[in-house]
Amino acid sequence: MPSSAFRLILFDIDGTLISTGGRAGRALLRALRDTYGIYPQVDGYSFAGKTDPQIVRELLTASGVPTATIEEHRDTALARYLTYLETELPPGSAQVLPGVRTVLAALVATPGVHLGLLTGNIAPGAALKLRAAGLDAVFGFGAFGSDAEDRNLLVPIARERARHATGLEFADADTVVVGDAEADIHCARAGRARAVAVATGWTPRQVLVALKPDAVLDSLAAPDALAAILGDGHPLQAPYSSRL
Ligand SMILES: [Mg+2]
Repeated sequence: MPSSAFRLILFDIDGTLISTGGRAGRALLRALRDTYGIYPQVDGYSFAGKTDPQIVRELLTASGVPTATIEEHRDTALARYLTYLETELPPGSAQVLPGVRTVLAALVATPGVHLGLLTGNIAPGAALKLRAAGLDAVFGFGAFGSDAEDRNLLVPIARERARHATGLEFADADTVVVGDAEADIHCARAGRARAVAVATGWTPRQVLVALKPDAVLDSLAAPDALAAILGDGHPLQAPYSSRL
C-alpha cells in the first residue's frame, strides 16, 4: 500500500554498500584489547546487523567482563576504535559493492527520493567508512549505533532526522530499509518500514528469504534493484528501472 511520490530510503553500510575486508573488525578488537586488556574470542560470533555498542557488550560479556566494567569504559573503547579505524581505512580503501554507485546515482536523481543511513556503526565510524569508499557526499542524515544500542529503535530516529532535514513526514509505506542482515529486516518491521534485503553480506540469501522481507536482491546490481527499493506505486519507478 505505497502511497505517494515520496520515499525515505535508509541504507545499512557494511555488507550493503561497502566491505572493509575485516579492517573495521580488527580496529575494534585492538581498541578492546587496549581498553579492557583482553582480545575477545570471535570464532563463531556474528557481527552482522549489530550495533557497535552491542558488539562491544556481547564480545566482552562472553569473555567474562562484568557489565558495569564494560559500560564504564565503552566510550573510551569506541574512541580508540575510531583512531584505529582512521588508520586502517584511508580514502579509497573500502570496497564499494556491486551496483551500489549506479543505484545511489539513480536514487539521488529521482525527485521525491530522500536518502539516509540506518546503521549499527557509531556516527563517526560511519563517516570514516563512507569516506573510505568515496560515498561520503551521498547521505545527509541517518540513525546510528551511537543513537541506540538496540537497532530496532533506529527507524523512528531516522524518520525524525529526515523530517528535520527535509520538512517532510514519511508514511510507513514510503519508508524503506535496505540491508544485508536479519537484523535489518527486524528493525524495518519494528519501525513499520518496508524491508529490502540484499545478499551481499555474510547472511545467506535463503536466511533472508525465510524472514519474508518485501524484496530480496542478490546484489544492488540486480536489474530489479531500483524497482524493488522504490516499491509499487512510485511514479518514477518504471522509467528509471527501464533505464538501468
Ligand atoms: Mg550490514
